[in-house]
Amino acid sequence: MAKRNYYDVLGVNKSASIDEIKKSYRKLAMKYHPDRNPDNKEAEEMFKEAAEAYEILSDEKKRAQYDQFGHENYQNMNQGGAGAHHMNMDDIFKNFGDIFGGMDLGDIFGGAPKRKKTGPTAQRGHDVIHDISITLQEAYLGAKKEIGFYHAFACTECNHQGYKNKGDLIICTQCKGMGQVRYQQGFFSVAQPCYTCQGQGFIIKNPCPSCKGQSRKQEFDRFSINIPAGIFDGAELRVAGKGDAGLHGGTAGDLYVKIRITPHKRFHREEDDLVSSLILTYPQLVFGSQIEIENIDGTKIAVKIPKGCPVAERIIIPGKGFTKLKGKGTGNLVIITQCHIPKKLTSDQKESLDDYASKIGDIPSDGEGFISSIFKKFLG
Ligand SMILES: [Zn+2]
Ligand SMILES: [Zn+2]
Repeated sequence: MAKRNYYDVLGVNKSASIDEIKKSYRKLAMKYHPDRNPDNKEAEEMFKEAAEAYEILSDEKKRAQYDQFGHENYQNMNQGGAGAHHMNMDDIFKNFGDIFGGMDLGDIFGGAPKRKKTGPTAQRGHDVIHDISITLQEAYLGAKKEIGFYHAFACTECNHQGYKNKGDLIICTQCKGMGQVRYQQGFFSVAQPCYTCQGQGFIIKNPCPSCKGQSRKQEFDRFSINIPAGIFDGAELRVAGKGDAGLHGGTAGDLYVKIRITPHKRFHREEDDLVSSLILTYPQLVFGSQIEIENIDGTKIAVKIPKGCPVAERIIIPGKGFTKLKGKGTGNLVIITQCHIPKKLTSDQKESLDDYASKIGDIPSDGEGFISSIFKKFLG
C-alpha cells in the first residue's frame, strides 16, 4: 500500500495543473511500464503507485478530498480495498487511452502488441452515493458504522463476463465485429455505432442464465466503515471499489458515504471547536467559581469561572474540541456563560434580592447615559 504523498509520487507540487499531473504520470508510466521492466517487482509497485496517485489527483472531486483530509486520513478513510491493491494491471492499462490519447502504445512501449478485441468491451461501474446519519458524539469520537444497500455485483457464475464460454459469443453479422457501421453520405463516409450489437461487435447468443448476459447482478451489501473522529456534516467518504460492478469485467465504481450529523441538545460545532452554553447563577458569575462539567464524550472537565465574569463570555478549554481532519491537533471546547434568572422566588429570596438592589442603587454604572429615567423601579 502506498505510504507516500501522491504529489511526491508524481513529483509535482500541490498547485500542479491537470496537464502537469498528466505529463508527469505519462513519464512515470513509461519508465516503470512492465514491458520495459520484466520481472521487476519494484518497478511494478512504482507503476501501480503512480497509477493510484494519478487516479486520485486527476479527478477533481477526489483531489479536493485528498487535499482537504491529507494523505494519512484519506488512506484511512478510503476503506474496503483502497490503495494500489484495488487497481490491477488491467485497470491501469484501460485508463491509458486517456493518458496517451491518440498515441500508438506499440510505439511508446517498444512494440508491445496491441490488444485484440476478443469480447464485449469492459466498462467501469457507476459510483454510488449512500447517506448515513451519525450523532455529534460519534463525529467527536469517531465511529464504526454498519451500512447496507443494494448495488451491482460482478456475476460469479460467468466470471463477470455475461457468458460462460467463448463459443457463447458470436461476431455481429451487421457490423462484422467492427462495432460500427459505415454509410455513405454524399462524399463522406460516416461511421455510427452498430445498433444490433450496441457497438460491441459481439452478440451473446447464449447468455449466462444467472445474470442474463448482464455480467452483473443487484445484490444487498452490508459492511462496516470506520468514520474518523472529527468528521463534519456533509463530508463524503470514498470507499474504493464498493460502487456498482463494471460491465463485462470492468472495474467497479466507488462508494461515497455521505455523512449527516444529527444535532445534539447541548453541544454544537463551530469550525473545529465544540461549543456549549453554561448556565450559572448570578453569584457564581460575580464571585467566580470552580466547577466540573461533563463533556460530550462523558469525560469530566474542571472549569474556572473568573470573578466578575460577564454573560456571553467565551471560556476556552484548549484541545477538547474536534480532531482536526485537515492538519494536526484538535479544536477547543468553548463554554459560553449564561445567567440563570429565576422565574419564582421564595419570600426569603425575594427579601435578600430587594436588600441587594437597594444597596447597589438604581442605575448600574454601565447603564449611565443610556437609561435616562426610571418610571417604576420593579414590577414586583
Ligand atoms: Zn454490430
Ligand atoms: Zn453471469
